[in-house]
Amino acid sequence: MIMWSPFVQIYRKKYPWIQLAGHHGSFRQGVEAGTILKKLAMPERIALEKLNEDPFLEGFVPKFSGVQTINGEEYIQMQDLLRDFDNPSLMDIKIGLRTFHEEEIVHARYKTKWRKDLYEKMCAVDPKAPTDEENELTAISKYRYMAFRESQTSTVDLGFRIEGIKVSHNTEGVSKDFKTMKDKDKIIDCIFEFSRFDQTLLATYISRLKELLIRLQQSPFIEKNQLIGSSLLFVHSNGAITNKANLWMIDFGKTIPVPPRIKINHKSEWKPGNYEDVKQSSFTRIQQQEESKLKK
Ligand code: ATP
Ligand code: MG
Ligand code: MG
Repeated sequence: MIMWSPFVQIYRKKYPWIQLAGHHGSFRQGVEAGTILKKLAMPERIALEKLNEDPFLEGFVPKFSGVQTINGEEYIQMQDLLRDFDNPSLMDIKIGLRTFHEEEIVHARYKTKWRKDLYEKMCAVDPKAPTDEENELTAISKYRYMAFRESQTSTVDLGFRIEGIKVSHNTEGVSKDFKTMKDKDKIIDCIFEFSRFDQTLLATYISRLKELLIRLQQSPFIEKNQLIGSSLLFVHSNGAITNKANLWMIDFGKTIPVPPRIKINHKSEWKPGNYEDVKQSSFTRIQQQEESKLKK
């Protein structure tokens, strides 16, 4: 069964909790008040614990409050960022130009399965996308397919993409297909629409983003970890206290340390081996080269 985002769950009486992305069923109400539970993934637990110890990022990441076991399943318990908002609007923006670990490319090189189904899916989205070689083979690897899907979004060009938006007055939830939203102007329109064209609200978000940038540049955690596939969660209130707005970093399932002695600045061009996570214009090209080496 396909479950469409956003998922709305009723937490406590009259408290709808909204999930914009990820799998249905991976979140539930926390054991302690003001918390939520997310299915445990070890990298995320380690990253969240370390981020909580980083004084520069205090208030910019959800507070971690241990691991809870419910019906034999382990969950990370963390601060519910929606808790203090009245009828919130929220937006999840996935950051970074590279959404794969370097190890995933190595894995793809040695254990590539050629998939006809993914070739067909790719053709259905864009018949001109496969290379001559791929057309001959009528199959592609999963990583090629994932990189292709990413090239359909703004991830590759802008270094971020909208994963989901829920505007409080829009009961249908996310109304646009963000999976193929690439155009900068359309994205800007969506962000304006999300913030109701409200200058005060936008100014609050911008000042919080500027503050986050300063903190990130000082953070010891950030120079030792690659943040892959994580997001910024923007939230504002639409109830009695309007213009209450905030944003946080979330989703550290693929945030892992770089090898010892390596430091990253999150600005340099990514080349395999330097672990940078931002500039990756050459990512798809390198991956295709790897794959054609295999076919020879
Ligand atoms: P994916 O890796 O596919 O992006 P995921 O399963 O790792 O998904 P997250 O991205 O961490 O899940 O979260 C999914 C959604 O849940 C977010 O977009 C946001 O709406 C909500 N969410 C996550 N963490 C919190 C939090 N601490 N407080 C409130 N809402 C949250
Ligand atoms: Mg996410
Ligand atoms: Mg995730």
